[in-house]
Amino acid sequence: MYRRLRAHSGPWDMIVVGGGATGVGVAIDAAARGYDVLLLEQHDFGKGTSSRSTKLVHGGVRYLEQGNVSLVMEALKERGLLARNAPHLVRNLGFVVPNYDWWEAPFYGIGLKLYNLLAGKYGFGASRILSREETLDRLPTIKPEGLRGGVIYFDGQFDDSRLLINLVATAFEQGATLLNYAAVSGVTKDAEDFVDGVRFRDAETGEEFEARAKVVVNATGPFADALRRHADPTVQPMIAPSQGIHLVFDRSFLAGDDAIMVPHTSDGRVMFAIPWHGHTVVGTTDTPIAEPTLEPAPLAQEIDFILQTSALYLAKTPTREDIRSVFAGIRPLVKSGEGGSTAALSRDHTIRIENSGLVTVCGGKWTTYRHMAEDCVNQAATLARLPDRPCVTEHLNIHGFHPSSEKFGRLWMYGSDAPLVEQIGGEPMDSDLPYTAAEVLWAVREEMARTLEDVLARRTRALFLNSRAALRMACSAPDGGGIDAGRRVGSRAGGELPRYG
Ligand SMILES: Cc1cc2nc3c(=O)[nH]c(=O)nc-3n(C[C@H](O)[C@H](O)[C@H](O)COP(=O)(O)OP(=O)(O)OC[C@H]3O[C@@H](n4cnc5c(N)ncnc54)[C@H](O)[C@@H]3O)c2cc1C
Repeated sequence: MYRRLRAHSGPWDMIVVGGGATGVGVAIDAAARGYDVLLLEQHDFGKGTSSRSTKLVHGGVRYLEQGNVSLVMEALKERGLLARNAPHLVRNLGFVVPNYDWWEAPFYGIGLKLYNLLAGKYGFGASRILSREETLDRLPTIKPEGLRGGVIYFDGQFDDSRLLINLVATAFEQGATLLNYAAVSGVTKDAEDFVDGVRFRDAETGEEFEARAKVVVNATGPFADALRRHADPTVQPMIAPSQGIHLVFDRSFLAGDDAIMVPHTSDGRVMFAIPWHGHTVVGTTDTPIAEPTLEPAPLAQEIDFILQTSALYLAKTPTREDIRSVFAGIRPLVKSGEGGSTAALSRDHTIRIENSGLVTVCGGKWTTYRHMAEDCVNQAATLARLPDRPCVTEHLNIHGFHPSSEKFGRLWMYGSDAPLVEQIGGEPMDSDLPYTAAEVLWAVREEMARTLEDVLARRTRALFLNSRAALRMACSAPDGGGIDAGRRVGSRAGGELPRYG
């Protein structure tokens, strides 16, 4: 990537700041149209919100209830496109809404029929009402007392950071240059005070760079206001950051293959309990926060809330001791005037062209990243007077595309790369997790992993599934390893790769 950067002369057509779903989506869209793109990420790809989602590719049943039909229809279409373009990563999952009151079956039954109808040709399967026996059959660990039955509907589930890493590879294959550990510290401006580039620093060598571009896209998610202020210190903040956390338990808490969806928790939110990579993920909360940080910490009351709400539905009451991992992410919600709770803020995406010429794209959802990117590149290309070229991502296969990746067994999420990972070989590195040295080597050699944390958190999902096991994996690294999660596993100076396993 640095070779591509150094070999480049003249201004880039587009520089994208931020390597989450939004930024990488923009880089793919622009590169696939034939524009010349540089993307800069301050930490690792997906370090921000994009590795910390609920892992659903969904229309959002909740937004239907809020009457936001257009958002739901857009997201359902995108869900269908993503399932077609990345079938190795998007799975069809059954969600059961358990009913404990008489009115719930007809109420949710009708709502979920509508959800299904809105998907049209992008449908994932018909919803239907379940008897008490069918509900217990699908959810063997649901609390049986007072259970009347349930309603089942189908939505998509994915592995967010695996998809992101495959999107980075796709952008690269389309000709984009993408750097992780390259933080943008400011913008440069032309004689007319228009943004014409950025300053950034290679975090590994400390080298400072300036790069020029016809247009700069700010895709820094929850951090969008900081870059906007670099371009114009007088701008008003547009982000209302809100934190959501998830707790991870072992599979025994949700032993079947279906998820539980609770449409109304005591704070009026939706809560999910989802089977994921052989574990159970439960979340999420929605807590307004003052300032976004790269490593948001779960609050004690958020953990208690999830434990208490899960206890209402799960036969086996989860306790703090049962928590294998916890992760917090920040929603880059866009302010829509004064006051109000963050749960009611817009989930639609926003594209703002500042007086300085900086283009900011934020909000939206993981599910709609492709559509956000299309809108953003349309606007940015017009602003920069780039040659008019149509978006091609509706039918662009994502790296790893494979129509039947389940045949690769445990390595299904690697899609067409799975045989190559398998060839490397190796035994599981920890008895509680399935990851082998092959996945570590693959991450370092092929997926731009630079630190232990990149491997443990975003190339494998060890840290998200079982933090103690992830620490043990870190300690099993060569030369004693230690648990320094930021320790480098590769060198940009071209040094020898450490040997694992
Ligand atoms: C708890 C939670 C659950 C969610 N669940 C779902 C779900 O199930 N399904 C769904 O569709 N959506 C979900 N979402 C929404 C979705 O995750 C986000 O909309 C999406 O990930 C936002 O991506 P982004 O690229 O805009 O932001 P981010 O992923 O945060 O990326 C921004 C990037 O910019 C980088 N950056 C910041 N400043 C700089 C700088 N100066 N220089 C270089 N880089 C910089 C950051 O390091 C970061 O990596 C969820 C969100 C939350 C919070």
